[in-house]
Amino acid sequence: MAILRPSVVSPTRPTVKTEAVYARGMESIVLFGPPGAGKGTQAQRIMDSTGLPQVSTGDMLRAAVSAGTPTGIEAKKYMDAGQLVPDQVIIDLIKDRIKEPDAKKGVMFDGFPRTVPQAEALADITTVSHVISIEVPDERIVDRICGRYTCAVCGAVYHDSFKPTSKDGTCDSCGGNEFKRRADDNAETVMSRLEAYHNQTSPLADWYDSKGIFHVINGDRAINLITNDILDALK
Ligand SMILES: [Zn+2]
Repeated sequence: MAILRPSVVSPTRPTVKTEAVYARGMESIVLFGPPGAGKGTQAQRIMDSTGLPQVSTGDMLRAAVSAGTPTGIEAKKYMDAGQLVPDQVIIDLIKDRIKEPDAKKGVMFDGFPRTVPQAEALADITTVSHVISIEVPDERIVDRICGRYTCAVCGAVYHDSFKPTSKDGTCDSCGGNEFKRRADDNAETVMSRLEAYHNQTSPLADWYDSKGIFHVINGDRAINLITNDILDALK
């Protein structure tokens, strides 16, 4: 059975039925991608095409803490003490999450695992059939992120190279003359975020590659081409 492809050839979200598009043999998937690689957009499209729910351990942790579940109370102890939440606590959260009805066919993990021990613990509780790694050269990510600026009045987003204002120094949408740049959108900060990402993910990439389930996707292309490659990899 084939996975449905997005039917709309536009950068907007494809409208695809989420039922019965699940490929046989596919179970949970793990999504990797550095900041600025367009992972969020692709995550949404994978969910639309496969019907797998997205599982973000960061979101789950915050939800468990605010709901005061036993795991949440346990996690809060560590967070209040300024410590990392132990892997076992996260694994317990995932165990509960994958018992929910919408996770019957698997889930899409985003932001987890981050280490090989976490990947091993995850393998004990669920089958990961595909790891999708969206890769974009670092210097391209720096270009994408660093050129961004927004109108201080209406929030319209521009980019030095890709989408400048049509009249220099004037917002196309509202005519405003003031613009903002995020302080952490400078090249040095972006490079150090990327370096941290590579250091963290390369042992994991090797580990998943040794299992034969690691798929590198070239993320430096049009959004639809990236989606098509991901869906091909998931077949
Ligand atoms: Zn404006």
